[in-house]
Amino acid sequence: PSMKREQSLNIEKLTWNDIGGLEDVKKKIRQAVEWPLIYKDSYRRLGLNPAKGILLYGPPGCSKTTLVKIIANTSHASFFMISCASLYSSFVGDSEKLVRNIFQKARASSPAVVFIDEVDAIVGRRGIGSNGTSDSVQERILSMLLNELDGIEAISSVLIVGATNRPDLIDAALLRSGRFDQIIYVPPPDYEGRIKILDIYTKNMPISKDVKLDRIAKKTELYTGADIQNLCREAAIIALRKLQNVEYVEMDDFTAALQIVKPSLSLEMVNQY
Ligand code: ATP
Repeated sequence: PSMKREQSLNIEKLTWNDIGGLEDVKKKIRQAVEWPLIYKDSYRRLGLNPAKGILLYGPPGCSKTTLVKIIANTSHASFFMISCASLYSSFVGDSEKLVRNIFQKARASSPAVVFIDEVDAIVGRRGIGSNGTSDSVQERILSMLLNELDGIEAISSVLIVGATNRPDLIDAALLRSGRFDQIIYVPPPDYEGRIKILDIYTKNMPISKDVKLDRIAKKTELYTGADIQNLCREAAIIALRKLQNVEYVEMDDFTAALQIVKPSLSLEMVNQY
C-alpha cells in the first residue's frame, strides 16, 4: 500500500450549508462533536465524556460521507478514511496493518476524525465470518476497533465515525455505550429538504423564471441528494444540447431531466430503517 493512503486526506472546504435539509441530523452531530470542545470545562465538571464514536446509518446517497467531511472540516481535525475498497486492495494480511497505521497516524495528528465507510462490511458480525473460522480478518479488525473505541486514553481527541446502509449487520458489541455512543439516522430528503438541495445545486446555474423548484421537489419523492444533484446537472446538459449559447436552464429542461434521472430509492428500501 502506498504511503499516501495512510496520511490524512485533504478534503474540500465543505460547510454545514452545503447540506440541504437534515436540520435535526446536523444539530445532533454538532452537539456530539462541537459541544465537548466548546463546553470543555462544563463537560469535565459534570463528568460527561465526549462521544468517541458516531454511527450514521441510512440509505445510500443521502450525504453520510459528506457529513463526516464537514465534521472534520469545521472542527479543524485531520481526516482519515478506512474503506472497504482500500482494505481489499491491500495485500492479504496487510489490512490489519493498514487499519492500525491509520489509527496511529490519527492519534499523532489529533484532533482527528477517522471515517469508516461501510462499517458493516469491514467488521461484519462476530460468529458469521465468511469462512467460519474464529480469526477471520474481519474479526481481528473488529477487535482492533473495539480496542480503539475503549482506548486507554479517553482524552485522545480522535473521533471515529462509521457509516452504514445496513445497521442490522453491525456487531452489537460496537453499539454498546461508550463505543458508538451516538447512533444517528440520516434519512432521505423530505419535500422541504429537496427544495433546499435544489437551491444548492441551482445556485450557480442561470435558471429561467419559469423554473419552480417547489414543483420539482414534489416530483422527486424517493430521490436522494445525489439523485437531485444529477438531475440538476442533467437539466443543464439538456439545455446546452438545445442551444450552445443557451442563457438559461428552463422548466422544460428539468421536466426532460426527470425522465432520464430516476429515483434510486424505493419505498421498500426506505421502510427498512
Ligand atoms: P453512500 O452510502 O453511497 O456512500 P452517502 O450517504 O455517503 O452515500 P454522499 O457520498 O455523502 O452520500 O453523497 C453523495 C452526493 O450527493 C454528494 O455529492 C453529496 O454532496 C450529495 N448529497 C446527498 N445528500 C445531499 C444533501 N442533503 N444536500 C446536498 N447534497 C447532497
